Amino acid sequence: HAKRSGGNAVQFFEPSMNQSAFERLVLENELREAVKEDQLVVFYQPKICIETGEVRGAEALVRWLHPTAGLLSPGAFIGAAEECGLIGEIGDWVMKASCKQAAEWARQGMNVPIAVNVSAMQFERESFALSVMETLEQCGLDPHLLEIELTESIAMKDPERVIEQVQPLRDRGVSFAIDDFGTGHSSLSYLTRMPFDVFKIDQSFVRGVAEDKHARIVVETILAMAKALKLKTVAEGVETAEQLALLREEGATLAQGFLFSRPIPADEFEAFMNQPMGARRTA
Ligand code: C2E
Ligand code: MG
Ligand code: MG
Ligand code: MG
Repeated sequence: HAKRSGGNAVQFFEPSMNQSAFERLVLENELREAVKEDQLVVFYQPKICIETGEVRGAEALVRWLHPTAGLLSPGAFIGAAEECGLIGEIGDWVMKASCKQAAEWARQGMNVPIAVNVSAMQFERESFALSVMETLEQCGLDPHLLEIELTESIAMKDPERVIEQVQPLRDRGVSFAIDDFGTGHSSLSYLTRMPFDVFKIDQSFVRGVAEDKHARIVVETILAMAKALKLKTVAEGVETAEQLALLREEGATLAQGFLFSRPIPADEFEAFMNQPMGARRTA
């Protein structure tokens, strides 16, 4: 199947394709160029300790500096990258760029754990764990400064495979977070047995935490579960002081969201780190 051949083969338009297939093809070819021409960039969004207001980490979020369309968010191209088999290459690039950046910051005395999102196709590759270890070594990054974010559906797929991929990295100090937690269908008994370190509470619940009783109950339940399992929690999508106050009351560990900062380029992140803590919003 031509569309799934992946790699660097340029795909050609066939008259039988409809307009959206054509657009997709254009996007895929441009994305191949983007990888080759260094048009991808990583932005960083701070994760803040709810108790102290300190920056305790950064999530690496890929962006595409498109030559004509401007800065594109992952929602505009990650799906296409998955379909045309480019996600492996893009994922490897993001992992390397993020580890390199974190290692450089560590050398400057800025120890910021970096969290990298990994897609299903990337995680399911036989060589995943090995390739991450190689990257850590090449970049000279302490594995304790790397966190890998997996969505709930990836984490739930095949327990034995997940453990096989996670354990060797975890043994070296890499931690694992379940992203968008609460939106999937995890079995509770399964979760208690899996080697994860962090639950990231999905934005949809954080958004409702201040006014919607049901969202609040979900947040409370996730936090109680995390506490019992001795896992850390990150509340994502925190936009208001009210949400933050409630999350603090409920005992969430870290908060991430526009209240503190949007995802920003590396140099702006450094500036954010260097600003006095009082300048950051902590309710
Ligand atoms: P995610 O991993 O759940 O990342 C959080 C998303 O929420 C980011 O969107 C971030 O900009 C956004 N966000 C953070 N705080 C707030 C807030 O307070 N309010 C609102 N409304 N949004 C907030 P972004 O950067 O567009 O990324 C979207 C998704 O794309 C990510 O969701 C992740 O699943 C995926 N993604 C991003 N970078 C990568 C990557 O390098 N590899 C892979 N495989 N996926 C990635
Ligand atoms: Mg994430
Ligand atoms: Mg998320
Ligand atoms: Mg999300």
